[in-house]
Amino acid sequence: MSNIWIVCEQADVAAQLLTPALELAAGKPVYAITVGAENASKVAALGASKVWQLNLQDGRPESAVKVIADTIKEQGASVVLFGATPRGRGIAATVAALLDAGMASEVSAIKAAADGVEAQRYIIGGVAVSTLAFSGLSCVTVTPNTFAAPEAAASAGEIVAVDVPADSRVTVVETAPVVSEGVDLAAAPRVVCVGRGVEKQEDLAMVQELCAAFGAEIACSRGIAEDLKWLPLERYIGISGVKVKADVHISLGVSGQVQHVAGIRDAKTIIAVDTNENAPIFAAADYGIVGNLYDVVPALTKALKG
Ligand SMILES: Cc1cc2nc3c(=O)[nH]c(=O)nc-3n(C[C@H](O)[C@H](O)[C@H](O)COP(=O)(O)OP(=O)(O)OC[C@H]3O[C@@H](n4cnc5c(N)ncnc54)[C@H](O)[C@@H]3O)c2cc1C
Repeated sequence: MSNIWIVCEQADVAAQLLTPALELAAGKPVYAITVGAENASKVAALGASKVWQLNLQDGRPESAVKVIADTIKEQGASVVLFGATPRGRGIAATVAALLDAGMASEVSAIKAAADGVEAQRYIIGGVAVSTLAFSGLSCVTVTPNTFAAPEAAASAGEIVAVDVPADSRVTVVETAPVVSEGVDLAAAPRVVCVGRGVEKQEDLAMVQELCAAFGAEIACSRGIAEDLKWLPLERYIGISGVKVKADVHISLGVSGQVQHVAGIRDAKTIIAVDTNENAPIFAAADYGIVGNLYDVVPALTKALKG
């Protein structure tokens, strides 16, 4: 394969992209596009033969999509790897459209194939893997931390600075921090997670009492946070929420849809309580109680308080 590209605005993710890129290139040059001088010299030191250093007038990497597409088109490309960062996803899709290229997002593996590349990505919340074959130019985003960065190269690549004008169509009106409770659910050793089996917001007090007795953080399914707003968004678990790794995870009235279970798969022991014996949560659980959470929660709290 020839003319393998990596594009990423973050140096650490760009460095990770170099590993599959260098493998695909098999000794041929790898070209890189990144933002700023510091990132450019890091990427050049790790094996990219030539690095286009974008100097953004408005600080928005999105303003560089046309420059990125034009640079790649001018030099020629067979595959472009983008970091699947929040910004990288949007940039990749726009550049793929400008280049009229095939596109896949959040791939976890990529290899050379007869006519182009073959990429794999997880689907259905991580329970299946889809393999995609590309012919011609392809743009793929790679999930951060899929690959380790390579060792420093024997010699650093060339750096070319490119000034990118502001996109006059977009103005950043305000940037404000998200108000957060500061809870780190992903690091909590014990988690009690509530779902729509809880009937009223007031009933969360009963669950909070169990959490206090058990030394656990309260968490929830998406609907409890997003639709009902009974708990903050940072407390919902799942494919689009937090992924927990608790030693003990207690699930109360959560049916266990695949998008939710994707967030509890790394918990060591899962205990599920649900009135429906056929609820999918029981397939993910180590221990299950088919029962009413309004009976089980007070009984558990009482037992824990001794
Ligand atoms: C693209 C996409 C992404 C999504 N991402 C997420 C995500 O990240 N996280 C997430 O959670 N969801 C996510 N969802 C939503 C997901 O598909 C489910 O709809 C959601 O997880 C269901 O929430 P639940 O289990 O609380 O509610 P329900 O599915 O309504 O389940 C409630 C459960 O409570 C039980 N129950 C009722 N009363 C009691 C009682 N008294 N005692 C005990 N049990 C009782 C019922 O038997 C049932 O099993 C996503 C959906 C989509 C389409």
